[in-house]
Amino acid sequence: MVLSRAASESDVSIHSTFASRYVRSAVPRFRMPEQSIPKEAAYQIINDELMLDGNPRLNLASFVTTWMEPECDRLIMSAINKNYVDMDEYPVTTELQNRCVNMIAHLFNAPLGDSEAAVGVGTVGSSEAIMLAGLAFKRRWQNKMRAQGKPCDKPNIVTGANVQVCWEKFARYFEVELKEVKLRDGYYVMDPEKAVEMVDENTICVAAILGSTLNGEFEDVKLLNDLLTQKNQQTGWDTPIHVDAASGGFIAPFLYPELEWDFRVPLVKSINVSGHKYGLVYAGIGWVIWRSKEDLPEELVFHINYLGADQPTFTLNFSKGSSQVIAQYYQLIRLGLEGYRNIMENCQENATVLRDGLVSTGRFKVVSKEKGVPLVAFSLVDRSRHDEFEVSEYLRRFGWIVPAYTMPPDAQHVKVLRVVIREDFSRTLAERLVLDIQKVLHDLDALPSKFLLLAGDSAKPPEKSLVPEDNGVIVLKKSDVERQREVARAWKKFVIAHKRNGVC
Ligand SMILES: *Cc1c(COP(=O)(O)O)cnc(C)c1O
Repeated sequence: MVLSRAASESDVSIHSTFASRYVRSAVPRFRMPEQSIPKEAAYQIINDELMLDGNPRLNLASFVTTWMEPECDRLIMSAINKNYVDMDEYPVTTELQNRCVNMIAHLFNAPLGDSEAAVGVGTVGSSEAIMLAGLAFKRRWQNKMRAQGKPCDKPNIVTGANVQVCWEKFARYFEVELKEVKLRDGYYVMDPEKAVEMVDENTICVAAILGSTLNGEFEDVKLLNDLLTQKNQQTGWDTPIHVDAASGGFIAPFLYPELEWDFRVPLVKSINVSGHKYGLVYAGIGWVIWRSKEDLPEELVFHINYLGADQPTFTLNFSKGSSQVIAQYYQLIRLGLEGYRNIMENCQENATVLRDGLVSTGRFKVVSKEKGVPLVAFSLVDRSRHDEFEVSEYLRRFGWIVPAYTMPPDAQHVKVLRVVIREDFSRTLAERLVLDIQKVLHDLDALPSKFLLLAGDSAKPPEKSLVPEDNGVIVLKKSDVERQREVARAWKKFVIAHKRNGVC
């Protein structure tokens, strides 16, 4: 499915300098070419065009792993031609996924005996994991309502407005109403009290986030559990909790082992985690774990005969690669608890270095918490002349990809920049980034305010004191070019304001 457009409409073919050694005609962009081209030419054309993509290691927007050890890269390449779904043919790969499920379930304190198999499955990412968990809740609730002779056509789910977009997808695709607890200034996660107030008889579950995408903050699962238990007792319902631990599932067990957010909390029936975030595997793997067999309705599980034994499966798609499963198993046994703990502690320390560096400029207010996913989310103290989107844009000049976004309702007026600290983001890079941010601020200070240029009648001129002495650039008479720029900026602002948060 191609929903995105090919870049420039003006040119229907791709011309390549090096490839002209092998081919003289350009490659069409809309139709398959008539003729084959040499493999070297194909490689060169694609490789050259990809040079213009950002550098994944400098992509500080993403939680997703961008570096693994060469030994693991080798395992990945040697399994690249294995279809995971061929369980009969690749029984060892299936066994490795089952071991991963067991290890992760134990990490999340599932109530299991020492050699008891856990209930869970490897997925393409947390999004698929969340679809599966959501379906299990929906089916369980429907079964319960039917048994009581009650209508079951209006299921809902309660979350914070800070949920990742995959919950909105789940809600729309599987026809469940999403009831979102609004955020407020200075409080950017779901308020457990308000969430429990919103729960009704049609609520299939309350979804708490361990590591909000927006500022890394952990939601209070324990408090949610206590409030919901009271409500369940009063009403006779049994509304459960799901924990979306996409980013925090591999952080909390190592950095905050005392924090009760997982299956130690009684109402938590399922948990998802992204293997490709702090599970430390390249993009393409997630996990969902259920507390017990009873929490996964049997009618959702398909049974595949696997070497004469029964292999239950519950996924949305059929074929997929095996490499990520193998890579996850590599990380779990290679690093062990000790290795993961070291890496997460290191990430946390680098986050602190970055946070302190930003605070010491005196120009930023940090909106992420010290306890949470290792990331730094920060806003400008003074936004009267330039905003976070400009800082993000200017940082691109140095190669850094730092996203800026606005918070969801009712905190839309808050704009933030976010830097995710991954394993491969070293202390040197953290220090370098602070220096480059300082340069960006210096450059921005020397420029006229974008709000002044945006002018019109609505733009508010900056306070006199905020205009630097040497800045005589206040635009009074506008040339045509400036007017055009104004229009372009106004559109850009409009588009940004209407864009959904693209953070992942
Ligand atoms: C990243 C993320 C997701 C989506 O996970 P994928 O693994 O990218 O599919 C869902 N929820 C939260 C809280 C996330 O951070």
